[in-house]
Formats: sequence, structure tokens, C-alpha cells
Amino acid sequence: MQSTAILSALAQEQHGLIELLQRPSKVNRAGRDFWLGELHGQSVVLALSKIGKVAAATTATALIERFGVQRMVFTGVAGGLGVGVDVGDVVVGQSFVQHDLDASPLFPRYEVPLYGKTQFGSDTVLTQQLLEAARSTLKQRHVSQAYPAAKAHLGLIASGDRFVSGAMESNALRAALLAANHDVLAVEMEGAAVAQVCHDYGIPFAAVRTISDRADDTAHVDFPSFIDQVASQYARTIVKTFLKLL
Ligand code: SAH
Repeated sequence: MQSTAILSALAQEQHGLIELLQRPSKVNRAGRDFWLGELHGQSVVLALSKIGKVAAATTATALIERFGVQRMVFTGVAGGLGVGVDVGDVVVGQSFVQHDLDASPLFPRYEVPLYGKTQFGSDTVLTQQLLEAARSTLKQRHVSQAYPAAKAHLGLIASGDRFVSGAMESNALRAALLAANHDVLAVEMEGAAVAQVCHDYGIPFAAVRTISDRADDTAHVDFPSFIDQVASQYARTIVKTFLKLL
């Protein structure tokens, strides 16, 4: 059976998944725990990416090289940047850009040197399945009751090694990206790195992010309680629905 990697950035997002894992076994590699088993009838490897692009790239590489996963899905939280991308919404990544990559003037701003690319796309089929899972999750009132108007979005996600937590900073980030034709919906710290690793290996990749904050002056306040109370619940339901669609 094809094995699916499910990556989470934070332990709180992963706990609910480990609890549901059938025939679990744990392997430690590169200072990380990898949980192997079955989830909703699918062979899976659960991993914590840790935080930031390098940690996420290391985890993704180990999942492919050591555990031979054939597809990869990231579930996590992100700050909303796009207009109308609000706390409690879900963003499914269609493509990814590294907002802190700047090798100009040698290369255009945001371009990944030697790839000739600024964005890495997600896998079309996996992404549609994830979007369907996200939409169906938001319709389940016991999951999304705190956010009855929550929406699912599909679009561009920006990743970088910075927790964006200021209105001025997030406005400037959005404006700079827009000026280079990157109309970003959300900002986080791992997705574009995992997308690049999966591109290198030819592994289908998809990612879903629940919006935990608006990357503004209250981002650090909103974040911790949201992870505990909402994001873990969203992740569990989205992953369950997604795995059943595979
Ligand atoms: N307080 C946390 C640290 C979280 S870092 C801890 O103690 O562990 C933020 C994580 O959530 C990253 O994994 C990132 O991908 C995502 N994220 C959520 N909101 C974000 C924002 N406004 N800017 C950048 N990353 C954000």
C-alpha cells in the first residue's frame, strides 16, 4: 500500500492523530519521532516538522529517503494575509513562495536560485481532495462552531523564517509580494520548504492551514489558545475526511 506522510508543525496539532493511529510504531531519526501505522485504513507516517524552513526540509527529506513515503500532506496553522482570510478559515495551498528569499540583484526577488522558479505548486489531485475535506469539515458544526462563517480558500501561501506579528509588518509583506505578482492568502514558516523538497523528489505534495491569527499586533495572543482549542480539532477532522477520499 502507498504510504502517506502527514506532517504537522506543532505537537498539539499532531496529538489527536497519534491517538487514532492503528498498530503504531515509533522510529527516531534525525532527532525526530516518526510514527508509522494505519489511519482510517491508510498506511501513514506521522511526523513533526518542527518550526521553520530548514527543520521542515530535513523532516520531509527523511520521510522520503528513510521511510519511502509516496505522497506528503502538511497540516498546520498560519497567519491570514489576504483580504477576507479570517481566523477560523482554512487555506489550502495551490502554490508556495519563500517570502524571505532574496538573491537580488543576481536573481529576481523571491526566485529560488538555480531553479528558475519563484513558486512551487502543490499536486492538483491531492489538493482538490484536501480542499474537499476542508469544506466538508467546516460544514460540521461541532468542529467549526466557534467560527460559523468560516470559509475554505485555495491559493498562494508564503513561507519564511519569521513569525509575522505586527500589522505594519504584515501589510508591508503583503504589499512587497503583490508588487512581484504574488497574491498571498496566508503566511507560515514551513510549506514552501516542503514543497521544494517534494518537487526535487517528484513526490506529490499538498498542504492545509487553519488561520490562527491575522499576522497583526495580536497574533502572539491569539495563537496559543487557538492551537489548543481549534486547530487540533480541525486537523483531525480534515485528515480523516481526506484519507477516506484517497
Ligand atoms: N508559540 C509556538 C511557536 C509557533 S511559531 C511555540 O511555542 O511552539 C508559529 C507556527 O505557526 C509555525 O509553525 C508557522 O508555520 C505557523 N504560523 C501561524 N501564524 C503565523 C504567523 N503569523 N507568521 C508566521 N507563521 C505562523
